[in-house]
Amino acid sequence: RSALVWFRRDLRNFDHAALHHALRQAERVWCVFIFDRDILDSLPRQDRRVEFIWQAASELDAALDAQSRRVGGQGSGLIVLHDRAVDAIPRLARELGVDQVLANRDYEPAAIERDSRVAQALAEQGIGFADYKDQVIFERDEVLTQGGTPFSVFTPYRNAWMKKLEAFHVLAYPVDKYASRLAPKPAGALVPDLASLGFEPSNLAELKMPTGMSGARQLLEDFRRRIDRYKRSRDFPALKGVSYLSPHLRFGTVSIRELAGLAWQHGGEGAESWLNELVWRDFYHMILWHHPRVVGQAFKPAFDKVRWDDAPALFEAWCAGRTGYPIVDAAMAQLNQTGFMHNRLRMIVASFLTKDLGIDWRLGERYFATHLLDFDLAANNGGWQWAASTGCDAQPWFRIFNPVTQSERFDPDGRFIRRYLPQLARVPDKFIHAPWKMGGIDQSAAQLKIGVDYPAPIVDHAVARERTLNRFGVTKE
Ligand code: FAD
Repeated sequence: RSALVWFRRDLRNFDHAALHHALRQAERVWCVFIFDRDILDSLPRQDRRVEFIWQAASELDAALDAQSRRVGGQGSGLIVLHDRAVDAIPRLARELGVDQVLANRDYEPAAIERDSRVAQALAEQGIGFADYKDQVIFERDEVLTQGGTPFSVFTPYRNAWMKKLEAFHVLAYPVDKYASRLAPKPAGALVPDLASLGFEPSNLAELKMPTGMSGARQLLEDFRRRIDRYKRSRDFPALKGVSYLSPHLRFGTVSIRELAGLAWQHGGEGAESWLNELVWRDFYHMILWHHPRVVGQAFKPAFDKVRWDDAPALFEAWCAGRTGYPIVDAAMAQLNQTGFMHNRLRMIVASFLTKDLGIDWRLGERYFATHLLDFDLAANNGGWQWAASTGCDAQPWFRIFNPVTQSERFDPDGRFIRRYLPQLARVPDKFIHAPWKMGGIDQSAAQLKIGVDYPAPIVDHAVARERTLNRFGVTKE
């Protein structure tokens, strides 16, 4: 028997459910990754994600080869194609003559649709298709309320999730011990370079984001030394408080079982708080799987009655980080320059877009989706609907973040702001969160003219707050 493992958001050669099952069931196992034209064709020609994936795929190719040779195999690797997955997978499976294609499960509506088309095409050729849980600890219907329905509130979900967790759930799927079954790649099957995929290098190399399995390992080892401080430092963007592992979780260069296992076994307030965030990740995947309509619609239907403003100039100012609110502008600069934004800042800018500018959360969600290196449909949609108050277990609509107060609390000395807005370097601490309050003398001393060197605020928070309270009133009708 022979099998083909189709890699998607699981670019690693260890603790891998589909690879483990393939190697146990078949004598010869090939591995493939497709740069899917159905996804790539609509992207800008410089995209950090494509480059991140390309580096991860190149590393995986070499790692599979080394893994096979270590156990006396003939060498192996990753077949990397640039094609439409719906065509390429059935064709490759036929050419290789495999009995089965195996993959790890994806919960996004478009991926579910793609996989069912591939499974159908394979079935027509007499080839099987099997998929496995790999990217979350608990999926779909595994954690339900006592009444047998899906949760829509996080805390009871988390409690049920924790109650269900046993050592088994964080156990690795062994791959090494069957690695001699990895088959050599067909002759000439090289990983295409970035240019032949039609992409130019982005600034990924200049960022401090290490890529591939080795990059994930490096970040994890670094975070392991800081995990006990996580709870106290995670909300402060100027500090190195969080793990920065989200792109690796997104593309599977790290295993969720290893991370959850580490947090669970490590214990203490830091690790518990980090595990809680990993549970949020499972939660949003579960929500997306049960409620695919959240892609484009409010989780709570009443909130689709909210009428958002059509304000392209304000939206553009938000995207470019020119709102006049330093915490918002610094956060958007971080996103635009690095593809990352700290979680606290994601909450602040999402709240600002929806509740200060009155702009539809779907526009912000789309902007994040094109710029975030860790873009994940489930988490991004969940985060945006939380901030816009339209989601399950969301921020109540009448609780509106004050961007200045948030800035004072979470970047008290303006260190993060100054890092991304160097033009504010000389602004005294007492004005750093609201520089428009500086009088002429202070502006001269800070060498900053508001409205010239840095924008005046594009909206008055107090006025916007009242408008938002009125706007959301329709949800009560
Ligand atoms: P850590 O604090 O180290 O957390 C560890 C991991 O837990 C993260 O890597 C992530 O996988 C998971 N996690 C943490 N917080 C959340 C959360 N609130 N929801 C779901 N999973 C979480 N996360 C994404 O991975 N992709 C997105 O596209 C995304 N979009 C977001 C949009 C908005 C508006 C908001 C408010 C949050 C969004 N998040 C998203 C969640 C969170 O901001 C990021 O996961 C986090 O900032 C990544 O940094 P980290 O890996 O250092 O996180």
